Amino acid sequence: MSFSTLGLSAAILRAVTERGYTEPTPIQLQAIPAVLSGGDLLAGAQTGTGKTAGFTLPILHLLSEVKGDRPAASSSQPRKRSPIRALILTPTRELAAQVEESVREYGKYVKLTSMTIFGGVGMNPQVQRLKGGVDILVATPGRLLDHVQQGTVDLSRIEILVLDEADRMLDMGFIRDIRRILALLPKQRQNLLFSATFSSEIKAFASSLLDRPTMIEAERRHLTADTVAQKVYPVDRDQKRQLLTHLIKEHNWFQVLVFTRTKHGADRLVKQLTEDRILSLAIHGNKSQAARTRALAKFKDGSLQVLVATDIAARGIDINDLPYVVNFELPNVPEDYVHRIGRTGRAGAVGEAASLVCVDELKLLADIERLIKQPLPREIVPGFEPNPHAKPEPIQNGQRGQASRSKRPDRAPSRSPQATPQPRSARHSEGEHGARSPVSRRPTGRH
Ligand code: AMP
Repeated sequence: MSFSTLGLSAAILRAVTERGYTEPTPIQLQAIPAVLSGGDLLAGAQTGTGKTAGFTLPILHLLSEVKGDRPAASSSQPRKRSPIRALILTPTRELAAQVEESVREYGKYVKLTSMTIFGGVGMNPQVQRLKGGVDILVATPGRLLDHVQQGTVDLSRIEILVLDEADRMLDMGFIRDIRRILALLPKQRQNLLFSATFSSEIKAFASSLLDRPTMIEAERRHLTADTVAQKVYPVDRDQKRQLLTHLIKEHNWFQVLVFTRTKHGADRLVKQLTEDRILSLAIHGNKSQAARTRALAKFKDGSLQVLVATDIAARGIDINDLPYVVNFELPNVPEDYVHRIGRTGRAGAVGEAASLVCVDELKLLADIERLIKQPLPREIVPGFEPNPHAKPEPIQNGQRGQASRSKRPDRAPSRSPQATPQPRSARHSEGEHGARSPVSRRPTGRH
């Protein structure tokens, strides 16, 4: 099946061909016609399935086919600039940047404009860009609401809404922000919801948002990816760092993506690897946008040997055919293991996924093996034999004392509408945040 049978315009097909895609992925095969039909969509798809093109291509088609000349739903003011017609919400800055890059690339032969809005960078340049008129806006929820509050963004003419990685957004505590944003959109619109997992919370949210959606699910190819050699290295808790250094040096691993559970853990590991003369940098929500972008660029071009990341920061990183992924600590959520190792062995390339597992994590390992329905081979490295009498200790999850509720130590806190706004310098999280007064408390349904 080729892209040309899906009903996309010649201008979009040209960009797709130039990008080097020959065939649509399974999610694209299903999503593109569904979005083109104008109805709502509920899609189960993870990063790596081609989901981004699955929604950006048909959105570009729809918006370039039909001129956005509907009258403003909520304003009688004549408008000078072109209104925002599509809004794509993402949980993280990285994902927002990546999605918008796709919009620009796939849309290079159509006359539509796009931009990102996210926190951690100045507001003014965003305000200036907005003034020029934008067709497609890719945003993280918190900063978007900052703009709403300042009156620098108008969402009253959105025709298509996309919630990308909706499960992550709920996990990160963005539900209130999203509901406030939904309340500002025209009731009549097309809604597309993409989520890797379907908890009862996501299901309830989807049913409140979507109107008779087409439901599609990408096969979980990561679960069956046999191009990834997975291995567990049992090791004592306090020997992990030495083992990691040993493995990297022994096997001459390069371009290694290492996952830690916390931001603090990521920083500590980078410090230790640096002491071991291994070139490494960390990306997580406490890093400035510039630092993250720099680290990612170095990692992509091969000049950085090791990139240490937390799960949330790593979402949305588009790195293909990564040779090595290391779980320095196992994730608390078994699905995250699948996400993590999905970074490697893509597109038929062989990759290696190594997990350093101490006695505290045996339960997490069992959960992962249950999810992927296969036992993972163990290899004990001579000199790093774990103490058979070691007692498990509770896993330290993070620095914010939110472990009881949060599955993810580095997620953004949910906001209370009454909270005092923080200075921008204090607004650092995986996404972006800062409390604001409620824009609307109206619960949002579609119609
Ligand atoms: P995504 O799941 O949207 O993050 O996409 C994962 C990766 O697949 C990205 O590097 C895309 O550039 C790539 N990709 C998307 N669609 C296709 C396609 N039809 N053929 C080959 N690669 C693709």
